[in-house]
Amino acid sequence: MAPIDTSFTVDAGQRLVSHAYIDGAFVEPHGTELFDLFDPSTEERIGRVRLGDREDALAAVAAARRALPAMARTTKAERVAMLRRLHAAVGARLDDLRDAMVLEYGGPVSWVGWAVRNAADAFARAATTLEAYEFTRRIGTADVVMEPVGVVALITPWNSNAGFICSKLATAISAGCTAVIKPSEMSALQTQVLVEALHAAGLPAGVFNVVNGRGDAVGAEFATHPDIAKISFTGSTAVGKGILRAGAETLKRVTLELGGKSPTLILDDADFATAIPLAVKAGFLNSGQACIAGTRILVPETRLDEALALIETAVAAMKVGDPRDEATEIGPMVSRKQWERVQRYIALGVEEGARVVIGGTGRPDGRVRGWFVRPTVFADVRNDMQVARDEIFGPVLCVIGYRDDDDAVAIANDTVYGLQAAVHSRDPVRARAVASRLLAGRVQINGLHHEPMAPFGGFKQSGIGREFGVFGLEAYLEPKTVMGQ
Ligand code: NAD
Repeated sequence: MAPIDTSFTVDAGQRLVSHAYIDGAFVEPHGTELFDLFDPSTEERIGRVRLGDREDALAAVAAARRALPAMARTTKAERVAMLRRLHAAVGARLDDLRDAMVLEYGGPVSWVGWAVRNAADAFARAATTLEAYEFTRRIGTADVVMEPVGVVALITPWNSNAGFICSKLATAISAGCTAVIKPSEMSALQTQVLVEALHAAGLPAGVFNVVNGRGDAVGAEFATHPDIAKISFTGSTAVGKGILRAGAETLKRVTLELGGKSPTLILDDADFATAIPLAVKAGFLNSGQACIAGTRILVPETRLDEALALIETAVAAMKVGDPRDEATEIGPMVSRKQWERVQRYIALGVEEGARVVIGGTGRPDGRVRGWFVRPTVFADVRNDMQVARDEIFGPVLCVIGYRDDDDAVAIANDTVYGLQAAVHSRDPVRARAVASRLLAGRVQINGLHHEPMAPFGGFKQSGIGREFGVFGLEAYLEPKTVMGQ
């Protein structure tokens, strides 16, 4: 494949993302399928992406494999320098990246502005972690050396595509691994901006390779290829399980970041005026299209009416609409498929006997186009209803009453998921005690906090392994025990 110089601007009238990025160059893919990209606010086609196929996946793996020996031998200082260059290069394209994300998945700009800075900063954080990390430690009579796991495959979802490409690639580079990347095929515009930025950082050819393509073609090839040592996947639990099965034959290491149905526990001593708006915000993060969204709000039965009134007020005050408007908190769903899925779940909640407090099926008032949904809150929900069990991935909240703290903890943990939970209480000791009983990879107390150096990942069917900081780095390393003189 001859290298082709390509450039792309988000504002171009007829957008075509036509190239894969393999061995340090933009190349024409072997695959020829064109996949339509839409603006979810208008339902109009805004461009197309040419998808790679298994041949392109094989070319990417071969390039990453060729680049591995040199990458694995680089010094820590050399890799820190690479990470700093990547940080600067992505930092220079933040506005383009933001615009692409608002355009192609309708993320509210207030959220996306944070998300793109966070994506770029993943490289700086990885550099800080790497600088402090000791690759050799003495254990008894042995030297234990942490070595790169090999070529890694990074597979990302549409709802946080750029962020996870950056954080996964930053960790792979820190470890001395080379990477093949399969972004979400629905995120091709932001991926293109990002890959142009990553290319500008001037890393050695083959260290990272990017192929747009379908999950069951490019993704499946990565999941089974014997030269891939590890898969880091963020996406749905169903696809994550398939990747685990596909990788078993070659015993691939996996990091799986999957779905959630996170509970927010409002304890009976909580300051409702503060806690309830925060709980609603946590439920509607990223227009409800967030793995960590707190979609089950658990409220003491004795204060249920008071809570529902405050929830209704908080939801009614949220601005739904144009994602380009800084005041918008809830934008459209990413696709017609996702819009229809959310509509089905709202109808199902009613069929199951839940009561609509606010919202319901259809578009918000005054909207005739765009994949907008009405932010919806259900009361009279039992935790065994499907709306309380399934990840809906839209702005739909279930309010569930509980008797006492033990009951609240039991309901919170009665889910196959375990990604995040939240506790609200005036008493920090009580809040910590409840937090210690929750089966979740992350627990928020009295707020929406973020610590990007701390491990991130899920208990139970929310995933396997952790990302970020030292825990994330060690997931890309193999310990080798060396003994004797
Ligand atoms: P998805 O599982 O449909 O797709 C994710 C990625 O996997 C895409 O790139 C897709 O093309 C690819 N894929 C699909 N089939 C594949 C296969 N057979 N082999 C290999 N790859 C395949 O998920 P989505 O709809 O893009 O994203 C939403 C989901 O992601 C939600 O369930 C959400 O909770 C989850 N998510 C989890 C986290 C987390 O950190 N835990 C973060 C963001 C999103």
